[in-house]
Amino acid sequence: MAYQTINPYTNEVVKEYPDATDQQLEEALQTGKDLYEEFKTQAVKERGKILHNVAAKIREKSDELARTCTIEMGKLLTEAQGEVELCAVIADWFADHGEEMLKPEEIETIAHGKAEIQHHATGVLMMVEPWNFPYYQIMRVFAPNFMVGNPMILKHASNTPSSAQMMANVISEAGAPKGSLTNLFLSYDQVTEAIGDSRVQGVALTGSERGGESVASAAGKNLKKTTMELGGMDPFLVLDDANMDDVIDIAWRSRLYNAGQECTSSKRFIVMEDVYDEFVERLKENFSKVKPGDPLDPKTTLAPMNSKKAKEDLQDQVDEAVQAGAKVVYGNEPIDLPGQFFMPTILTDIDRDNPAHTTEMFGPVGVVYKVATEKEAIELANDSSYGLGGVVFAGDSDHGAEVAAQIETGMVFVNSFRYSLPELPFGGVKRSGYGREMSRLGQMAFVNEKLILKA
Ligand code: NDP
Repeated sequence: MAYQTINPYTNEVVKEYPDATDQQLEEALQTGKDLYEEFKTQAVKERGKILHNVAAKIREKSDELARTCTIEMGKLLTEAQGEVELCAVIADWFADHGEEMLKPEEIETIAHGKAEIQHHATGVLMMVEPWNFPYYQIMRVFAPNFMVGNPMILKHASNTPSSAQMMANVISEAGAPKGSLTNLFLSYDQVTEAIGDSRVQGVALTGSERGGESVASAAGKNLKKTTMELGGMDPFLVLDDANMDDVIDIAWRSRLYNAGQECTSSKRFIVMEDVYDEFVERLKENFSKVKPGDPLDPKTTLAPMNSKKAKEDLQDQVDEAVQAGAKVVYGNEPIDLPGQFFMPTILTDIDRDNPAHTTEMFGPVGVVYKVATEKEAIELANDSSYGLGGVVFAGDSDHGAEVAAQIETGMVFVNSFRYSLPELPFGGVKRSGYGREMSRLGQMAFVNEKLILKA
């Protein structure tokens, strides 16, 4: 059984799930197709009411949802509670705004009558999601596409099956018709098969480049539209006139949130030389204050990583970085607890041929660079195959925004934490993927933007 809940704090196997059968997949595809036809006859407003019920049900079940997620992938309970509430916020936002966003848009034509673009559903979507935010990743795709009228089949990560099933149950208990979101414990081959099926009309994936390449290839072969939310090595630029109290407060949280297992985590700190020593010293100070322990305990501030393999892979990456000349200025020591803990670590002296310069580290390891000029900071920020997000700290926000405009990523936050909110588009460029989730752009990702011209 590939799908298992293993508590990364205790290493206990909590639950195993049987693999989905081909028959279950066939039933899900047909139920989805039937629902797609039914949704065509239903006003968008009706789905808005159900989506508000989903938000209410999420809030009603928030304790259970948060605990399940913490036990399954290790995140701090307080962070899990935040994730659950964000899901409710996303559901409410799309319920409130979806109908308006999906209204026809008139186009002025010069001499050919009246034209408009209507926004129609396209069919069943395949959703492939990762473990790091097991509920939020679902809701980013579910809420907008439920409003559109696209039924969804979910293949979640093999280490978060309980969270996946619980969110699917909550959605169903809130009144979403059968087939709105069908969670199945699918193999990669079954995902490929589903993508090739004519009832599936789009694929949304969040995950690694490797997973993205494979799923996007299958979709490309079948001419199916995709959105790809992949990895990131987000830069965090500190200009020499930045407010260092704000910088430090956000820098350490931005790297250690979710035990550093976040695509938009700030992974590369690019700091101007005048403030470099202070930055490193104060980052160390904050990294040293975190307290590893039971993620269900509110006093714990450092969560275990999601799995033994994740921790071992990260250790290999740090070892390779050090072998290639990186200097460990803090961390990289064992934590004497049975869970999958990785000590927050700071690496400096990274040459451009060091693997730490080019490879995403999905855990609590920050890399700090010293630069002499702003131009050099921007050039270094852009010297990456990834292009997801980023942060710029500057004394003057307007100047920070000018710098932000020169960074080749999909999202940049100036003098701010990197928030994810339903009204803000989420997504990247380069090998961080393409397409956007959330906001109006996410709402339109899988619609048929259909022209109707009346002469
Ligand atoms: P993976 O790509 O390994 O897994 C993500 C999902 O894809 C899982 O459900 C996985 O299933 C599935 N999957 C992987 N390969 C295939 C395949 N060939 N066919 C079908 N399904 C497949 O990613 P990670 O677990 O490594 O997740 C972390 C990555 O996700 C990081 O790189 C991170 O940066 C990125 N990420 C991107 C975000 C964004 O919004 N841009 C947000 C969060 C994370 P299974 O578990 O069974 O292997």
